[in-house]
Amino acid sequence: MAKIFLVSFLSVHVPLIALIIHLLSGFDTGPVPVFTLILVATLAGTSICLFAIWRFIRPLHHLAVALKKYPEDKSVLKVPSNGNDEIAIVTDAVKSMLSQVEALNKQLKHQATTDFLTGLGNRRWLTEQVPALQSQADRTGEPLSIILFDLDYFKNINDEYGHDVGDSVLMAVGEVVKDCIRPYDLAARIGGEEFCIVLPRTSGEASLNIAERLRVAFESSYVEPLAHGRITCSFGVVQSGPGERLQQLLRRADMALYKAKDAGRNTVIGAFVNKKP
Ligand code: GH3
Ligand code: MG
Ligand code: MG
Repeated sequence: MAKIFLVSFLSVHVPLIALIIHLLSGFDTGPVPVFTLILVATLAGTSICLFAIWRFIRPLHHLAVALKKYPEDKSVLKVPSNGNDEIAIVTDAVKSMLSQVEALNKQLKHQATTDFLTGLGNRRWLTEQVPALQSQADRTGEPLSIILFDLDYFKNINDEYGHDVGDSVLMAVGEVVKDCIRPYDLAARIGGEEFCIVLPRTSGEASLNIAERLRVAFESSYVEPLAHGRITCSFGVVQSGPGERLQQLLRRADMALYKAKDAGRNTVIGAFVNKKP
């Protein structure tokens, strides 16, 4: 503000200063030269003033442009804020507030889509992701399968050893899943002790083998103070049909999972294919 005031003050006085210098220098004091001098000095003063103000408020203009484009490119966070005048203070404050909003948004998005216990996705996240993968599979003709699995006799673990041990089992299951799946597979905890893995570009047959690997991995995992082999899961495996919706796919997988429970648990059942330990 002080800079703008100073520049405006000096610029306004350019004609007066020019006139004084003109008179003191003994130049022609006729009306035409004086009028011409004042006109030129006024134009010069105005130009200097406008140019200086434009230079001062240019950062504010950049900030406004970046703010307008913020929803698309977030470039406002890169706007430089030089000096310590009001514009630099406003720029810094806006950038700091937007950084906080960004961080909070990221945190909220993570919380809204992640299961806090296992670190896997949650049901909402899976529901959002799968339709696009199904459409892609329909378009390319590549298979897409899902593995639905549920811990066996999990309630007994809670009842016998307590909820904390139950939670540790769920966390151990999450770790095994993370170790066993490929980077482009999606894994989510979609219920209390029910999990779903979506396998793009994978046939039902190949998914049965992956489920079998998981079954063995769970059986071999250990959580204190449970007996070795106490953590087991039952699996339902299905391949997505053309145009099939996620709800239908999950329903079919659920039926296969129930068959696996009926078959004695710690079992993998897929459509038309049945693998038992
Ligand atoms: P089944 O082999 O038929 O699946 O039997 P189950 O005991 O695993 O199934 P049931 O549906 O009877 O019990 C599920 C239990 O999962 C009951 C519930 O207390 C427990 N559970 C659900 N969510 C959590 C959780 O976040 N932490 C813990 N520790 N337990 C949970
Ligand atoms: Mg269960
Ligand atoms: Mg269950």
